[in-house]
Amino acid sequence: MEKQAKIYVAGHKGLVGSAIVRRLEQEGYKNFLFRSSKEVDLTNQVETQKLFETEKPDYVFVAAAKVGGILANNSYPAQFIYENLIMESNIIHAAYQNEVKKLLFLGSSCIYPKMALQPLNEEYLLTGPLEPTNEWYAIAKIAGIKLCQAYRRQYGCNFISVMPTNLYGPNDNFDMETSHVLPALIRKFHEAKHKGDTSVSVWGSGTPRREFLFVDDLADACCFVMDQYEGEQIVNIGTGTDITIADLAAIIAEITGFVGKIVYDASKPDGTPVKRLDVTKLSNLGWKATTSLRDGLAETYQWYVSQTK
Ligand code: GDP
Repeated sequence: MEKQAKIYVAGHKGLVGSAIVRRLEQEGYKNFLFRSSKEVDLTNQVETQKLFETEKPDYVFVAAAKVGGILANNSYPAQFIYENLIMESNIIHAAYQNEVKKLLFLGSSCIYPKMALQPLNEEYLLTGPLEPTNEWYAIAKIAGIKLCQAYRRQYGCNFISVMPTNLYGPNDNFDMETSHVLPALIRKFHEAKHKGDTSVSVWGSGTPRREFLFVDDLADACCFVMDQYEGEQIVNIGTGTDITIADLAAIIAEITGFVGKIVYDASKPDGTPVKRLDVTKLSNLGWKATTSLRDGLAETYQWYVSQTK
C-alpha cells in the first residue's frame, strides 16, 4: 500500500479494526476513512454505496461484523447470519463497483468443520458439518470468503480473505453474556477478587481447547498479508498453539490475583472441542506471532482495569 493511499477500515472502533488502525499509524499511514455505524449503516446498501462513491477508498479492511461469544451466537442466530451477510455483501460489492485496489476480508476459525482434523488447514473449508453453536456466524463468514473468490474470478478484483483464530486485547467486549471466554474470565476474576467472592463460575467443562492470538499480532499479520499475499485461497492467522479453558482460567486467576475456587457450569455449552489453526501457509510467507499469551493477557488486563476506573 502506498503511503498516501486512502485506507478504509470498516469497523475501526472494534477490537480488530482499532488494532489495524494502530498498526497502520505506526507504519506512517495517515489518509484514513473512518465512519461509525451511526454515520454510515453498513447493513444499508444505499448508504454503503454512497460512502464508496463519494470517498473512493484505495484499500479496504473489512473488520466490521456482528460478533460475540458462544452464548450470543447461540441466542441471536438471525442477527448473526443476517447482519454479517448483508454488511459483507454491501462492502464487497461497493468495493468492486468503485475499483478498490485491494480488499482484505476477515473471517474466523469457526468456518472449519466441527470434527475436522487438527490443526485446521485452509483446505478443510467446506469438508464437513459446522459447530452448531456458531454455524450462523460461520455460514455468513463462509459466504464472505466466497464473495471475495467470486469477485476475483469474474471481475479480477484483488480481494483476499484471512481466518483469524480466537482474538483478544484492548477494546474487546467485556460483557458477561455476549463476550468471548477470555474477556469474560478477566472480568469475572477481577470482580470476584474485588468483591471478596470465594468462587468463580466458568462455563462448560473446562476441557475444550482454544488458540488465542493477541489482536496487535493479528493487525501486524493483516498488514503483512495485505502487502505480501495475493490469491483466491484463504490464509489462517494464529499462533499454532492452543490451551484448555481450564488452563486459561488458571492463568487469568493468577494475573488478576484471584485465589478462590473455580467452579464449572455444565449447563453452559462447550462448543467445538478443539480448533487449532495450521499456520504453515502464513509462516511460509514469512510471518509469525510474537506476543506470548501471558504478555498479551497482562496487557489486556491492564487495559481493562484502566477502563473500569
Ligand atoms: P467459541 O470459541 O466460539 O466457543 O467462543 P467462546 O470464546 O465464547 O467460548 C470458548 C469456550 O470457553 C467455550 O467452551 C465456553 O463454554 C467456555 N467458557 C467458559 N467460561 C466462559 C464465559 O464466561 N464466557 C464465554 N463466552 N465462554 C466461556
